[in-house]
This record gives sequence, C-alpha cells and structure tokens, in this order.
Amino acid sequence: MITNFKNCKNVPYYMFGEGSIAGLGKILSSKRQEGSPVVFLVDDFFTDKNIQNTLSLEPTDILIFVSTEHEPKAEYIDEITDEIKSKIKNGLPSAIVGMGGGTVMDITKCVSILLTNPGKAEEYQGWDLVKNPGIYKIGIPTISGTGAEASRTGVFTSKKVKLGMNSEYSLFDQIILDPQFLKTVPKEKFIYTVMDCYAHDVELMKGKDSEVTKALSSSSLNLLREAIRDPEQINYEKLMMASYLGGSAMATASGGHICHPVSYGLGFILGLRHGLSVCLAFNALEEYYGDYIAEFREIFSRFGVELPKGITKDVTEEQLDKMAEATLKNEKPLGSAFGENWREVFTKEKVKEILKRI
Ligand code: ZN
Repeated sequence: MITNFKNCKNVPYYMFGEGSIAGLGKILSSKRQEGSPVVFLVDDFFTDKNIQNTLSLEPTDILIFVSTEHEPKAEYIDEITDEIKSKIKNGLPSAIVGMGGGTVMDITKCVSILLTNPGKAEEYQGWDLVKNPGIYKIGIPTISGTGAEASRTGVFTSKKVKLGMNSEYSLFDQIILDPQFLKTVPKEKFIYTVMDCYAHDVELMKGKDSEVTKALSSSSLNLLREAIRDPEQINYEKLMMASYLGGSAMATASGGHICHPVSYGLGFILGLRHGLSVCLAFNALEEYYGDYIAEFREIFSRFGVELPKGITKDVTEEQLDKMAEATLKNEKPLGSAFGENWREVFTKEKVKEILKRI
C-alpha cells in the first residue's frame, strides 16, 4: 500500500573530499578479522592502473576486476559470488569493497547479499525479499550520477526481468566519495550518467513521496545545475554531492518513477546502457515532465552530445509488448508516480505509445 509510512534508511557513514580514498585502509583495519580476507570488486577500467596501493590491499586479500562492458546480469553476479566462496575456504570475507561506476556499485551490493543469503541473484529481484544482512560493504564511486552509491537498489537483468534487489540490506555500510576519480570519464558516458541523476531528481520531485524525498532530490538537482554550468569547468565536488543526494532521495522512495520504469523496459529488450536508456526515456516524457524537458535538451546541446533517434523504429510488436510488460512490473515506483489506481492511467497501450516515440 502506498499510503503506508516508509521506514527509511540512508547510508550510515560517508567520507567526502578529494583524496579521501586514503582513509580506506583505516576503515578496513577496524573490520578485518583473522583469516578472513577483504574482497575488492574493481571496475576493469583500473586493470593496469596499479590500484592495489590506492586500495590498501593486504597480501591475502582478493582482487577481482569486474567487466563493465554490459549492464549487470544475474549469471555474472552468481559467478562472482561463487568465485569468492570458492576462494575462501574457512568462511566469508571480512568486508567487500566495490570501486567503479554504477555497474560495479550494483554488483557489489548484490554479491554482498548473496554471500549470506541462499539461492541465486534472480530470486531477490523485487522489494524486501532479502532475509539476512549482507557482508559489510564499502562503495567507492568513480562516476557520478546513478546515485547507486547511496540508493538501496542493486539493479540487474535476469532472464525474466530487469529489476533491482531493493532491500535495506543492499545499502552500503560506508561510502568514500573522492571526486578525483571523476575527471577521467569519457564525455558521452559522463553526460549520460549525469543526466541519469537529472532524470531521477525530476521524477522524485514530481512524485507522491515524502517531503524528505523532495528536499533531497531538489537539492541534488540544484547542485547538479551548478556543477555542469560550464562544460569546460565542471565542479566535480558538487557533482559528486548531487549524485549522493539524488541516490539518498531514491533510498527514501521506491526508486525513479516513470522514466526509470520505461528505461528498464527499453534496456531489458535492447540491452542498452542504463544512462542512455534513461535519457532516451526521459526525452519522450514531455507530457509528464513539461518544462524540464527543455532544460534537459539544452544541457545535451551545451555538452555537444546528441541523443540517438529512432531507437524503437525497427522493434517488433512482440518486443514492444515485452518492453511494456517489463515497465509495468515496476509497481511501487508507478504507484508513487500516479497513485493507487496507476494501472488505469498508465496502461500497457500508453507505455507502448511512449516507447514508439523513442
Ligand atoms: Zn538511474
């Protein structure tokens, strides 16, 4: 029931500022247990970048470079979980550290949970299905925008659906927000990820969640605007804080509201990256987001990036049906957007009409 009061939780500890990654070793030393290593899941972007020293790795720790070529998949999450279990003969890791973009953040959250909960990743797609707390987990985002560092969702695609593990156990226990890592992100990836933040801020500000959600998302949007005013002089600290506040807003709500469900349908069938599918969906939702669409498009032209067009022009009727069905599985966010009778307003035909415009 959407009228129930939500008992909200945000990430309990964060360390913020340029160079704050240096604090990781100290945080980990208080978590290390005899004979139980720390597991590091690191974006494969860092493969040749001598990351071991930066991350205060000890000789017995386990370092796994995570492929970020595709959006997270259920089988890949299960595979990493099994790899960790097979490497630690006498139990579980002391902690798990995820460093990278939204993909690595989401995978880290899910693996942390699967190490202490039976079964496979796809069994936990949905809301509040996780029974046991996960392994103590630290998130170090290196791209800002998805808010995955602060949200309670670990999104991935299974054979059935693209949907998150939404649980308070999927929140990180600690995050380290060090803006130095944002400076190396390529322009297109950068802007799609930044605008993912723009989209979920607008979604949450216009939804039916609490004033807390609205306060966090509107602060995030204002910081974001300030951070990217001049493409030649990005304010990375503000951008990182915008992403964190946007993710915190999501942690107090049920996830992004109309645009995100549509983007999940789109991404599920076409295998698009999250940031791109969110931007494509947002651009087609003028009837819901009115004035924001003009600003959204202006930001793209400011950065000289053009959104691809005609994405769904060749999809079959059957694929459109599947996309719409995947969108409509996001019951909670759609309830928060349209109210209890959302199915009457946001019908399958309506979703298909939106998808055809993309
Ligand atoms: Zn998003």
